[in-house]
Amino acid sequence: MTTIHMLINGEAVRAQSGASFNRSNPLDGQVATTAPAASVQDAVAAVEAAAAAFPAWSATSPGERRALLLKAAHALEAKAAEFTAAMAAEIGASGLWAGFNVHLAADMLVEAAALTTQINGQVIPSNVPGSLAMATRQAAGVVLGMAPWNAPVILGVRAVAVPLACGNTVVLKGSELCPATHGLIIQALQEAGLPKGVVNFVTNAPADAAQVVEAMIAHPAVKRVNFTGSTHVGRIIATKCAAHLKASVLELGGKAPLLVLDDADLDAAVNGAAFGAFANSGQICMSTERIVVDAKVADAFVAKLAAKAQALPLGDPRQGPVVLGSVVDMSTVRRVNELIDDALAKGARLVCGGKAENTLMPATLLDHVTREMRIYSEETFAPVKAIVRVDGEEAAIACANDNAFGLSSAVFTADTARGWRVAQRIESGICHVNGPTVHDEAQMPFGGVKASGWGRFGGQAGIEAFTDLRWITLQTTPRHYPF
Ligand code: NAD
Repeated sequence: MTTIHMLINGEAVRAQSGASFNRSNPLDGQVATTAPAASVQDAVAAVEAAAAAFPAWSATSPGERRALLLKAAHALEAKAAEFTAAMAAEIGASGLWAGFNVHLAADMLVEAAALTTQINGQVIPSNVPGSLAMATRQAAGVVLGMAPWNAPVILGVRAVAVPLACGNTVVLKGSELCPATHGLIIQALQEAGLPKGVVNFVTNAPADAAQVVEAMIAHPAVKRVNFTGSTHVGRIIATKCAAHLKASVLELGGKAPLLVLDDADLDAAVNGAAFGAFANSGQICMSTERIVVDAKVADAFVAKLAAKAQALPLGDPRQGPVVLGSVVDMSTVRRVNELIDDALAKGARLVCGGKAENTLMPATLLDHVTREMRIYSEETFAPVKAIVRVDGEEAAIACANDNAFGLSSAVFTADTARGWRVAQRIESGICHVNGPTVHDEAQMPFGGVKASGWGRFGGQAGIEAFTDLRWITLQTTPRHYPF
């Protein structure tokens, strides 16, 4: 069992009230972590520490920020074994997923380091004689980042890396389900030598989330909010941000379609579908949630995919390497078992896997899914996937777009020009032609449309999200006035 602290103004602290909460392992129910249960006072103290650190941090040179972020990347990588143990204990994740998390998160810090010298402006021709007019980007202030548990290292780092690179100070609100994993990110940033108050870390008990979050959004020093999590909570955050006129980046749920057109290389499509559907037991916002396959090739495709899915190793990640570890909790199991019952009652066919009795859920495929079934439109966030058979390209596109979400998508076809045309018509932030729906790189403009949220994290798009664009003029000659 690990006991962790919050970080406020460079100090490792408990909650002022002394309250704490536990996170238990999803498989054996043993307490994995005890973490401080912040109150509104603690949350406000964290924001105020970040506000006090902002003037000096925003005035650091890009070179200083770059050097610190690079050190943080190395410090993070050096903790790979600790991250793997914490993720297995808190969320039941496989070592494969933990390793990928650390690798991509370190890359996000390296990429953020590189962005420090890319915060560009513009000189704009002015109609006023002698006026030198510039558009410049400046750090916004305190950025509140809120990260979920499912890709904890990647999404915790993403919530703070580009904001810090741009000269903002940050408060990271850790997930109640993986406070120690998020705490390790904070340790890596501290070890890199970021000045006190630049990074702050708050953990809260689940029941206190609403008030702790609202207090931080409402604080005048908080200038930007980013949230990665469910669409349900994203709407609450968006509403609070609107009330306090705070700009937000919202990365929410998904129901990614993977289209297999009639000319697709079926082996390539099977490999892409299996990876996208079952990596981290389907608990990825970009997970392949709907496999939309042309009826002409469906029988052959489904047979190959089922063979692959059935062979994926499943087990307790603490006992050895697996592809499918534990899902995050029993409520996921109950919710998804209901989706399976609903689909089977309405005529779907179980191809492999099936209902689970504990959090070790097998790779499950339901064929002949139709829009009357809940699994057609609801995010499973588990290794249980819907196959929808369609007739032709137009029906495939219509099915892809027949959903509230729009984060990632994929199209498999032997004709890349056809793939490009189809990709342009899919309503999603991200689309991969002949690649899996699960694909993230630090420098890419990651984000969704529709109920998957708004705003982008990576590269230049991240700079735009976490800076203020200002118009500043220098009058270089005497100015003419009408009176
Ligand atoms: P969640 O939305 O249930 O919880 C996120 C956080 O919201 C919690 O840690 C909690 O502190 C906070 N919260 C809960 N109630 C609140 C309230 N009333 N006011 C303010 N805050 C509140 O999400 P989760 O279970 O942690 O993550 C899973 C979801 O995240 C999935 O839907 C998944 O698709 C999505 N996700 C999206 C992305 C992306 O980049 N788009 C990435 C990963 C996960």
